[in-house]
Parts: sequence; structure tokens; C-alpha cells
Amino acid sequence: MTGLNSQRNLKYSVNFITILLRVKLMRFIVDCMLGKLAKWLKILGFDALFFSKIEDDELLRLADAEGRILLTRDNGLVERAHRGGVEVLFIDSEEWRSQVGQVLDEYHLRDKSRPYSRCIECNIVLKELSKAKARNLVTPFVLEQAQAFALCPDCGRVFWKGTHHADMEDKVREILTQNSKLKA
Ligand SMILES: [Zn+2]
Repeated sequence: MTGLNSQRNLKYSVNFITILLRVKLMRFIVDCMLGKLAKWLKILGFDALFFSKIEDDELLRLADAEGRILLTRDNGLVERAHRGGVEVLFIDSEEWRSQVGQVLDEYHLRDKSRPYSRCIECNIVLKELSKAKARNLVTPFVLEQAQAFALCPDCGRVFWKGTHHADMEDKVREILTQNSKLKA
């Protein structure tokens, strides 16, 4: 009995770890028609590669090479992704809030979000920056006002609380507290 239980427990742990890894490694590539969806996934901290101009072939190649889930509203692209073995999610709505909601629900990401942890331009995770190091990179006023700073290792942009408008913070709260859509 004990053996069976521990086997079961092991199975549960393995499943749990698989889920954790999947969330940690979950990466998206977003069709160029869905810029706002890409932007908001990045604001919420998710890895969402986006190009305002990219050929479908290149989109599929990148998705395949980097193990990214393709997000698109293009049926033709969905079919090509299926044929090429690329994981793809057809985005139902034309409205960005519903689009973000669909992705969060589909991959159970609503409580995995880390808002403002990623550079929206570069899709790179920000690094913490000490106040001492921020000293030469921001104005004295910002240095005095802000408590925490972060640096994009790619573009060198410095972020701090206050970088984001109150309006953005309201929207983030709204998105994350939306009730998950009940599956029919
Ligand atoms: Zn950047």
C-alpha cells in the first residue's frame, strides 16, 4: 500500500513539476495583426515575441525553432501551423481585452502574471537595479521618489514605479481580476 501511495505521490509530483515547467517556459509568438495582445502579454510579464512586419514562413520557423505557441486570428496560418507541428491558438475576439483573457484562461496563466517584469520593447526580463546604480541613470527627482528600479539588459532603458501610468495599472488590475470565462 505504502509503495503504491508513494508511486502515486511521485506521479502527482512529476505532473506538478511538468505544469510548473510548462508555465515557466511558456513562450508565445504573436501574429503581426495582434500587436495590442502582444504588448499586454509583455506588460503582464509573459514572453511574447512580436514583429510588426514578418513573413508567415518566418513566423512559423521561429515558433518551431524556439518552441513558441503561435497566437493568430488567421485561419490559413492555423492550418499551416498544424501541418508543421507548431502549437497554435486561434484568437477568437477582435477586442484586445478578450484576447488577453482567452490566452490567460487557455493556459491557466491568470495567477502566473508578473506585471512590469519585462521590457515591452525587447521582450527581455528586466534586471533589478540598486538605487546606487540607478543614481547616474535617472534624474535626481526620480531617484528621490522611486524606491525600486529595474534595467533592461538589452536596450538599457531604466524603469521604476511611476514609469507606468495609473491608467495602465488600473487595466492590469482589471485584467487579472476578471473572472475566468466559464467553459461551455
Ligand atoms: Zn529593452
